[in-house]
Amino acid sequence: MPSATRSTAPRALLVEDEPKTRESIAEGMVLEGWDYATAGGGREALDLLARDCFDIVVLDGMLPDFDGLEVLHRLRARGDTTPVLMLTARGTLNDRVTGLDSGADDYLSKPFAFVELLARCRALIRRPARASNQPLHCGNLELDPRARVATRAGREIALTPREVDVLEYLMRNQGHTVTREMLERDVWKETHRMTSLDNVIDVQMMRLRHKVDFDGAERLIHTVRGVGYQMAEGKLG
Ligand code: CA
Repeated sequence: MPSATRSTAPRALLVEDEPKTRESIAEGMVLEGWDYATAGGGREALDLLARDCFDIVVLDGMLPDFDGLEVLHRLRARGDTTPVLMLTARGTLNDRVTGLDSGADDYLSKPFAFVELLARCRALIRRPARASNQPLHCGNLELDPRARVATRAGREIALTPREVDVLEYLMRNQGHTVTREMLERDVWKETHRMTSLDNVIDVQMMRLRHKVDFDGAERLIHTVRGVGYQMAEGKLG
């Protein structure tokens, strides 16, 4: 990847023909300090991707020239592995399977909350770093991903295997909101479920918080209302 395009800000390519949707996503990305380029159709997107480097492609499924799946197919066929988040009109199971089979890294159905879009993009950009086995820290909480042992202020916290998975995921995404959908997909690995795991996840999170943020300890796992959770030191902004 050319170093010139790898500044600290993530660089996204938004492929969407509807100006309203495109502008609102772009506005949100600017507020986040992201860099972006836009394409109004599939051909233009493929041209841009051939010439330039992006950290992520947000690709609408419905485009005026060829559709999102066709763009994706052509992109992968030429060996381009840039992470792609597909936007679909409806969250049907078929769309989902077709999207993931054709090489999309994730998909999101319209209408979506911007915070969800951003969280998915971040998770995709961050993926390669996940393999690291270095101990993770947040305040006086430490997790050794290799030994799968968590300590707080030097004291070991007894966790179930699932709790270790959730904690590791939260710590790797520290400072960013983790949605229930992300937990469902990346920790529970349930991408083809028809019913939501929200309740299961909420109960699990309650137990985990009870162990990690015990009485008298500074709160590290925060609730982001209606969206999910975030691990951070101090209060959320
Ligand atoms: Ca469209």
